[in-house]
Amino acid sequence: MQNALSERARQAQPSPTLALTARAQELRQRGIDVLSFTAGEPDFDTPDFAKAGALEAIHAGYTKYTPTPGILPLREAISEKLERENKLRYAPDQIVVSCGAKHALFGVFMAILDPGDEVVIPTPCWVSYPEQARLMGAIPIFVPADETTDFLPDYDALRRAISPRTKAIVLNTPCNPTGAVFGRKQLKEIASLALTHNLWIVADEIYEHLVYDGYNHESIGALGKEVLNRTITVNGVSKSFAMTGWRIGYLGAPLEIARAVSRLQDQMTSNACTIAQYAALAALQNANGEWYATMRATYDQRRRLMVSGLNSVDGIECWTPRGAFYAFANVRQLLGRCYNGRTLESSADVAEFLLSEARVATVPGEGFCAPGYIRLSYATSEAVIEAGIQRIAEAVGKLMQAS
Ligand code: PMP
Ligand code: GLU
Repeated sequence: MQNALSERARQAQPSPTLALTARAQELRQRGIDVLSFTAGEPDFDTPDFAKAGALEAIHAGYTKYTPTPGILPLREAISEKLERENKLRYAPDQIVVSCGAKHALFGVFMAILDPGDEVVIPTPCWVSYPEQARLMGAIPIFVPADETTDFLPDYDALRRAISPRTKAIVLNTPCNPTGAVFGRKQLKEIASLALTHNLWIVADEIYEHLVYDGYNHESIGALGKEVLNRTITVNGVSKSFAMTGWRIGYLGAPLEIARAVSRLQDQMTSNACTIAQYAALAALQNANGEWYATMRATYDQRRRLMVSGLNSVDGIECWTPRGAFYAFANVRQLLGRCYNGRTLESSADVAEFLLSEARVATVPGEGFCAPGYIRLSYATSEAVIEAGIQRIAEAVGKLMQAS
């Protein structure tokens, strides 16, 4: 036997966000007082109305398999939600419920990508898009953007990234890790490229309810029927209802795609957890403006604290995010500086320096295809943010003095 593992398994990279979250947890378990800004995970508890849905399901004996794409009442509730909140018309049979939005995206890529196909991905981007595309044998084509364009990709650069082999374009708004929010103009540009070149738009809208400073989330599929016919909308309950551990994500897609994803899911997981589906149903049925508004206001307050704190540190510059719950701080001024005989050569080194010297865990930009930055999640308490900023300021202060 030459290789115990398949080529795919050998190539697969672990998720750096999950790896760093685990590392911070492990250090804490060993008694080291680490403040963690790694996890893209709400610190709120799952609302009681969602938990009640799960408890009722257990008592009613809804503990068996369901149809692979999910129970009909949940697909109906998702279809109604997408129409009501996002102006997207997907019938219940165009909805597939999966084990988290990550799983839904995996199913989508599996359904649309062949080896050698290209996927256009604006960067900085969430860690899993390029990796999932590569697992299908496809090639991610990156279109970088930075603070100078509010982290929004340039239209000409997007156009130039498209080749005859391009199959899809990924759109993540609000964006993890930057907090960029795509406006109507950028959505129209992406839609026109998709229509002209016959591409799928994979729209990940998982942070839709977290937008600040008067910015609005708009769904690209709402631009018109033609665009909707090219759009696969991915979403889930992880962020909107603090339900990361329940593992419920979903997609709305043209029927052909929804059926293909469901067929593939038949052979992977069958249905997502039945009890969790009932919890998600209760979450969607009981969702009200107050829940979203309280959550948004809490994150907004933390966002201001985090961003102003980071910008008060000499050597760090942080663009003000407009959505999601991450600060994406530019740390290029720290590169080339020496500490304890070591030179910081990359943002991975900066993250390592902050972990060892400030006991603050962050995620370096490399995983988001954006070296020179670090990501800090502000889905944590104001007390932790304040303490973390203080530690960062002290450590970076010493670094700036030392070199
Ligand atoms: N998309 C983005 C942009 C994310 O940040 C995440 C991380 N939670 C996901 C999808 C996946 O979410 P989940 O699998 O928990 O639904
Ligand atoms: N999406 C979250 C993050 O970016 C969770 C970790 C992951 O799934 O990669 O931190």
